[in-house]
Amino acid sequence: MARYTGPVCRICRREGVKLFLKGERCVTKCPIDGPRSGTGESTPSRHAAITDKRNPPGMHRVRRRKASEYADQLREKQKARRFYGVGERQFQRAFEEAERMSGPTGENLFVIMESRLDNVVHLLGLGRSRPEARQIVRHGHIFVNGHRTDIPSYQVKPGDTIAVKPASRESVRFKALAESFTNVRRPNWLSFDEATWTGKVLSRPALGDVTLPVREQLVVEYYSR
Ligand code: SF4
Repeated sequence: MARYTGPVCRICRREGVKLFLKGERCVTKCPIDGPRSGTGESTPSRHAAITDKRNPPGMHRVRRRKASEYADQLREKQKARRFYGVGERQFQRAFEEAERMSGPTGENLFVIMESRLDNVVHLLGLGRSRPEARQIVRHGHIFVNGHRTDIPSYQVKPGDTIAVKPASRESVRFKALAESFTNVRRPNWLSFDEATWTGKVLSRPALGDVTLPVREQLVVEYYSR
């Protein structure tokens, strides 16, 4: 399936939630955070800051009907898949892998997604968004345990080190990223040494580390139909 190349804010509106696909702009100039049409609300609450209950793109003043069980499951799956920026086949393969692991499948699925190299690169602050982190990995700027690794779906493990290729650190892109290293809030399962531009995986991520508000059980139900 071809990768979606249209306006990404449209995806967030479709899912009714901030998916943080644009990096810095998602914090400073997100349309979902803006004044809501017809409500006169200009300062959204914390919850309103991450969800958008307006109509999906392309629809105007539709009457809302109660969504079917299937529709709920589909939307939850699409939301999770788009948050991590993976295709349907890749997400389904991750689900099958999660089923083979011991423990709850829903939790396993999100551990797999959180452990993707492109996600970890983003969480470490080496890419402002997941799409940018994915590109950085693909272009060969990232070393895992001292080896160049350009596979975004690579699964990191506790003890792994993730570093930026020394030559790449001199580029304008990485110099700009380095200026905001101190502002990045990294999860507890990762550490980062700003002096050497090296991150370390301290432990496996847990479902609680996923920043997306997601009902993983609905994703499991979607694939178990
Ligand atoms: Fe656009 Fe980012 Fe806001 Fe999503 S979170 S609507 S990508 S600015």
